[in-house]
Amino acid sequence: MTSGSAHPDLRAALMSAVAERAPKVDRDRVGACFDYAAAAHADQRRSSGQPFVSHAVEVCRILFDLLEARMDTTLACAALLHDVVEDTTITTQEIEKHWGREVASLVEGVTKLSSMHFDSREAAQAENFRKMLLSMSRDLRVIFIKLADRLHNMRTIEFLREDKRQRIAMETRDIYAPLAHRLGMAGIKRELEDLSLKVLDPAAYQELSQRIQARRQERETFLGRVMEDLRDALKAHGLKAEVNGRPKHFHSIYQKIRAGRALEQVYDLFGIRIITHTRNDCYRALGVVHDLFDPVADRFKDYIATPKSNMYQSLHTTVLTADGEMVEVQIRTWDMHRTAETGVAAHYVYKQGGHVDEELDKRLGGFVAEIAGWQRETDDDEYMDFLRTALHQEEVFVYTPRRELKRLAKGATPLDFAYLIHTEVGQKTVGARVNGELVPLRYELRNGDTVEIVTSAQAKPHEDWLKIARTAQARGKIRHWLRQRRLADSVSLGKEMLEREMRRARLRITDEQMAKAAADLECEDLEQLYARVGEGQISITVVLRRFLPEKETLAERLAKGPVEDTTPVRKPSGGVRIQGIDNVMVTYARCCQPVPGDPVVGIVTIGRGVSLHRQDCPNTFGNRVPAERRVAVEWDARTGDTFPVRLVVSGTDRPSMLADLAKAIAATGVNIRTAGMQAEHHTVRGVFVVEVPHLAKLQEVIVAMRRSPGVTRVERRQRLIKHTPSSRYEEDDES
Ligand code: MN
Repeated sequence: MTSGSAHPDLRAALMSAVAERAPKVDRDRVGACFDYAAAAHADQRRSSGQPFVSHAVEVCRILFDLLEARMDTTLACAALLHDVVEDTTITTQEIEKHWGREVASLVEGVTKLSSMHFDSREAAQAENFRKMLLSMSRDLRVIFIKLADRLHNMRTIEFLREDKRQRIAMETRDIYAPLAHRLGMAGIKRELEDLSLKVLDPAAYQELSQRIQARRQERETFLGRVMEDLRDALKAHGLKAEVNGRPKHFHSIYQKIRAGRALEQVYDLFGIRIITHTRNDCYRALGVVHDLFDPVADRFKDYIATPKSNMYQSLHTTVLTADGEMVEVQIRTWDMHRTAETGVAAHYVYKQGGHVDEELDKRLGGFVAEIAGWQRETDDDEYMDFLRTALHQEEVFVYTPRRELKRLAKGATPLDFAYLIHTEVGQKTVGARVNGELVPLRYELRNGDTVEIVTSAQAKPHEDWLKIARTAQARGKIRHWLRQRRLADSVSLGKEMLEREMRRARLRITDEQMAKAAADLECEDLEQLYARVGEGQISITVVLRRFLPEKETLAERLAKGPVEDTTPVRKPSGGVRIQGIDNVMVTYARCCQPVPGDPVVGIVTIGRGVSLHRQDCPNTFGNRVPAERRVAVEWDARTGDTFPVRLVVSGTDRPSMLADLAKAIAATGVNIRTAGMQAEHHTVRGVFVVEVPHLAKLQEVIVAMRRSPGVTRVERRQRLIKHTPSSRYEEDDES
């Protein structure tokens, strides 16, 4: 960086502005920062032909206007450097090295905002976009710089190409002016609106400007007289106050005219403003005004007692002068005036040495709370919603592939997004692309991401989704679906179980008789009876006993003859055929991990379909499982299916044993899912999870492992589940 300054005239102007207007700002540091920015932008020029760094200086000056004596060194430096990262080769890291973390993070914030362009015509989209900008900036100072940047660009927009002018003016009208309004920064808002109107409807702007000019001359003498009278009267009452004429800005007149009012009817075209030193003086001044002129009924508004939601405070009244002309008068204190013009900026205080973000946050937290207090009277939910979202960053904004902006809770994943788009999309989700790249469904969405959901007609919600979805909305829909699915499973399972036992007991029971039994058992209908049987809440014995002679139990009845189950084997369900029971979810027991070839038994679980166990699994022995919950099953695995089996290895420790075992397993062509070994003294214990298609292959693997030197034992895992009477048989985890 050069020490002598490029552009000495610009530097001098900046330095004198600092000296006059920003006493707290460190002049040497800002001077050095100017030199750094000027060197970085070097020969870059604006479309106007001005050196680029002049823009940075102007942005800085706009901030002086906005913050006045509250302007600080950090903000001044960040303003001077705001385009350096975007437009030169200098990086955020370099800014941080020279100017500190805080300046760097402000510059980074502004750079990030500059990459966001608004391109929709929809009002709802604009609102979301504004929230996203605020939420992305994390620090209101970033917004201050961005608004100042936009204001200067609008002031010099005439030098740009027509298409660029249109795009920027539209974005200014739809996004930045309303944003300034939301933050109570009326001065900037007015100017942004007028400048965009000039670009977007130049003919209307010209006409308006001429007509207002004509009317101004006509009214000037008249208003001058009224103001003189007011000044005299205020003075006579011992009130110190400033009395001004107040031209309305074009954009608001333009809108009133477009809403169908004639220019002549917009009688507050030129109003009068009285600015006092104390709040009390405002009311005293009001008394003076109403003493001098007749107030127009229903035109008085006290925004001091009841401020507007963007903090605006003033007394408004309209009076009738002796000439029969109507004049609108606003009365406020200097503090209220500053808040009316600069909104949140009027409340910005920089704490030297403090954690600025935290301080500002607290400050803004207070600001939100303050508004919340007014809220009861202002009744502007939308505004509160806006501030909460923007300042507390509880939300994240992402685009659909069609550039619609969607709003989600912070921490939301593509699955939440899918459910937000449509329940159907959520149910069918199989994957997601963010900014064109495939991401896991757990990916945490970030502001500005473009999200595309990959769906499949076969997909359906899964229990695991409850761990992935973060929003109440998506979780509710997933839970609902799972509940429905479980209920449907229970109903068909209960029905099939009852029918099977009826056949075995050679009982003929009509639906009507069964419905009566349902009512006796306090079920609403037949379906509920089936569901309760399927869920294990009502036992089959309890139901069927009602249809047996009093002295005969179901067990005795069944013992009378051989099982006479003539129902054909039905279609395969998840790799097994289940006799007599159809449409059932099948799970493979984790305690014994059956594979095709193992003799197996199906156990009807509570609410989770049929669980498949090995016949020698200790969890199915004897009275652990009531006979009526057992179903006959046989394997019907498709080729290509594999089943995980956990093998426990023990032996004497030696080097590279794990590698040798892995090699031995791989040689059988079987996939290893996990492998691990632990040595203790001279013995070793290892656990391998392998994926095998059938029992013969598993035995081959076990033999191969046993042949490995040092191995003394290889066993399949058998685990006893802690048993309680209401055990679900499946509450075994992967351990
Ligand atoms: Mn800029």
